[in-house]
Amino acid sequence: MAEQKRDYYEVLGIDKNADDAAIKKAYRQLAKKYHPDMNPGDQEAEKKFKEASEAYAVLSDPDKRRQYDQFGHAAFEGGAGGGGFGGFDFTGADMGDIFGDIFGDLFGGGRSRRANNGPMQGANLRAQVRVTFEEAVFGCDKEIELTLKDECGKCHGTGAKPGTSPITCTKCGGKGQVVYTQQSLFGMVQNVRTCPDCNGTGKVIKEKCPDCYGTGYISSKKKIAVTVPAGIDNGQSIRIRGKGEPGVNGGPRGDLLVEVLVSRHPIFQRQDTNIYSTAPISFVTAALGGTVRIKTVDGEVEYDVKAGTQTDTRVRLKGKGVPSLRNKNVRGDHYVTLVVQVPTDLSKDAKEALRAYDDAVNGIAPSGKGGKGKKRFMDKVKEALDE
Ligand SMILES: [Zn+2]
Ligand SMILES: [Zn+2]
Repeated sequence: MAEQKRDYYEVLGIDKNADDAAIKKAYRQLAKKYHPDMNPGDQEAEKKFKEASEAYAVLSDPDKRRQYDQFGHAAFEGGAGGGGFGGFDFTGADMGDIFGDIFGDLFGGGRSRRANNGPMQGANLRAQVRVTFEEAVFGCDKEIELTLKDECGKCHGTGAKPGTSPITCTKCGGKGQVVYTQQSLFGMVQNVRTCPDCNGTGKVIKEKCPDCYGTGYISSKKKIAVTVPAGIDNGQSIRIRGKGEPGVNGGPRGDLLVEVLVSRHPIFQRQDTNIYSTAPISFVTAALGGTVRIKTVDGEVEYDVKAGTQTDTRVRLKGKGVPSLRNKNVRGDHYVTLVVQVPTDLSKDAKEALRAYDDAVNGIAPSGKGGKGKKRFMDKVKEALDE
């Protein structure tokens, strides 16, 4: 009994001045995390759950909280001995509220879903397919292989050996769920659980089908055609109806959700329906203007660079982006950042031409050519650089 108890505020991870809402919120989070239903067989979680519940029972009650603030754990010692919770008497704590409040929405939904043993749609399956950047832009057809369950042909999904049939579960009387009462922190609590003998089906198989070992299903590898629509983006999924898990009790199959993974492109980046890239241009083209060839997803296009273009100028190639998923005739744009290249490894002639250029822009006119000299000079630079 001498185990050192943790401070209740510390247990809930709140400070001493926390208000009721904060206490409740903190407990809710811990209860969700450690509730035994969520952590079956986990002793540590159960311990944490009890610890948090005890802390909450005290701190959510103004009187008890006051006593605790004044005397600490000693406030509740010497009452009921050996109760497992350090002697704290929970009978007075109004936990019905909390259960309705906290666990009603948490576990209620799950139970009622499991209790349904009528026709149910099978679970969805997930798979992935990898495509190139261009395949994502223009769409493509792919094939993926995956293991799919099908109803066993021998027993037609019952799981029972042909000639026999599943019998009604004796534990739950065919209801698929059992009600049991549990001694909990808060007194006797009634719980409804999925029947462990029949896993909620209400039926038990005495003699198993030899083909499917009583599961009712046969797994096999299947090739599935996947049509990847133009414009799909990395991480988006394609739904293929009826290729998921088989349904239960005659329900339809679930769906297959294929996540598309788009490989990176060496020069193109994408954002929504626009494509971004950079293209090098010579400084002569940047200065004088000229035509450059730019790679797009439609192949190379020619673009007229304006004279006097600065480096990092962004130009738009309208309609060269990614088609919209909704309408593939509507396409985004391709934005190209023109990067002016500074030449390296200049030849002797090229260097001379550049020096002449430097002289020209610094006001020293090339000798004897008059006004026309300037144009001729620029042509010379261009020739030298284009080699
Ligand atoms: Zn079978
Ligand atoms: Zn049962």
